[in-house]
Amino acid sequence: MPRYALVDCNNFYVSCERVFNPSMNSRPVIVLSNNDGCAVARPNEAKAIGIGMEDPVFKFQELIRQHDMAAYSSNYAMYAHISRRVTLTLGLMVPDLQVYSIDEPFLDLSTFRTADVPDLCRNIIKTVIRNTGIPVSFGVGPTKTLAKKHPALGGFCDISDPVWLERALAATEVGKVWGVRRRYEKFLKVRGINTALDLVRADRGMTKKRMGVNGTRLLSPGSEPARKKKHRGFKNLLQRD
Ligand SMILES: [Mg+2]
Repeated sequence: MPRYALVDCNNFYVSCERVFNPSMNSRPVIVLSNNDGCAVARPNEAKAIGIGMEDPVFKFQELIRQHDMAAYSSNYAMYAHISRRVTLTLGLMVPDLQVYSIDEPFLDLSTFRTADVPDLCRNIIKTVIRNTGIPVSFGVGPTKTLAKKHPALGGFCDISDPVWLERALAATEVGKVWGVRRRYEKFLKVRGINTALDLVRADRGMTKKRMGVNGTRLLSPGSEPARKKKHRGFKNLLQRD
């Protein structure tokens, strides 16, 4: 059975800085872009203080001082080195691996038994942090697209398993579902449909009446929302080549 894991290094740049300076574990840390222009990595505690991604530094100098925050200049050579060490550690445990980005490799877990996957992933989490100091989280699914981590569920989620799928749906806000859009979100929430799981279990007659054919397609197993019509003339031109 096809099964892929997307391993995500948690707050990767910040975690790398903390490996070399563990006293920063208890302090909010941010990493700045080249020339220290803006924030490019923020852990949750920095987000909570109100520092936005790519916010220019001059906008939050006062916040840095108020919250005794540490701000590091980025060190991409060091991050690349640690990323290679994470990949090497993963390669010792899973033979089929694809590096997707500096902090996100895909693992092909298709050859592992379903029952063994949770223990394997927990073992990988422990081994990676022991060997490299970097905390990682897992999203597991039947395709690479569906292998997404769900922070609300902690460090592991395997949606190939119906029990985990239900937990993931329950942890997904209905407005985040592809194709629901803002106007359906309001309609659904008024009717007590707050999560993707509520939506899956919702009365089809009611959703069809209000959400029309797109809503029906969205809720049919294996389907996806209708694609927008493309510019036919241009598309035909391309196809003829
Ligand atoms: Mg990450």
